Amino acid sequence: MPLVAANWKMNPTNLDDALDLARGILSVARGHASSIEVAIMPPFPWLVGVSEVLDGSGVKLGAQDCFWEMKGAYTGEVSPAMIQGLCQWVIVGHSERRVYLGETDEMVAKKTAAALSCELGVIMCVGELADHYDAGTSDQVVTAQVKADLANCSADDSARLVIAYEPVWAIGTGKSADPEHAYKTMRLIRKVVAEMIGAGAARKVRILYGGSVNSKNVQQYVELPLCDGVLVGSASLDAEEFQHIIKVTAEVYGHR
Ligand code: PEP
Repeated sequence: MPLVAANWKMNPTNLDDALDLARGILSVARGHASSIEVAIMPPFPWLVGVSEVLDGSGVKLGAQDCFWEMKGAYTGEVSPAMIQGLCQWVIVGHSERRVYLGETDEMVAKKTAAALSCELGVIMCVGELADHYDAGTSDQVVTAQVKADLANCSADDSARLVIAYEPVWAIGTGKSADPEHAYKTMRLIRKVVAEMIGAGAARKVRILYGGSVNSKNVQQYVELPLCDGVLVGSASLDAEEFQHIIKVTAEVYGHR
């Protein structure tokens, strides 16, 4: 089943707006819940409120990050055990955390293992920087990231593992990737995943595209043969935009 995930990042800035946005998304998402999986990732303080809006709808809830330990003296961190039961998904390794907070592949691998051990689904983000893209080294960079980030994973994790290919130069910039580049990189990711956890298991791992997806360009990504959905940032903050993304995705996968 395709996955359409909304990464709200550090938005909206108050609970009422978050609940309104969740209700707006839900009004369309609930009608497609049997054919596409929709997941909303609000900031931590809005998780409980949004979970009440989504309750019983089939629309999933996720966190934008988690720590790799379950409890203890880690000021400011939130453990997977704390969000287990509230969330079904968690994002790890988002490029904004890698760039602004120095998150490394080793940390991403530990977070992934910890989240999976708590029965959470993991959306692991990988993608090259603009410099890598310009230098033609995207393949090497993404291969190294996927190998390092999957270091603690096994075939048993495949059903709850999603890899989002997000070229960093395409995130929040309005410069979405050429679908051909996205396709080739997603094909490469699947090959690397197969090397890491076996070909059979790799087929179950879903691979998303992310990076300036909106209602106008979403079709060209979800139509790609290897694409299992999209991770959407800015456009998920506009209920109508995101509703349209859900409808287009449902339509494309309905014809597969
Ligand atoms: C993201 O935050 O994962 C993302 C893809 O952002 P945007 O859609 O704004 O590029």
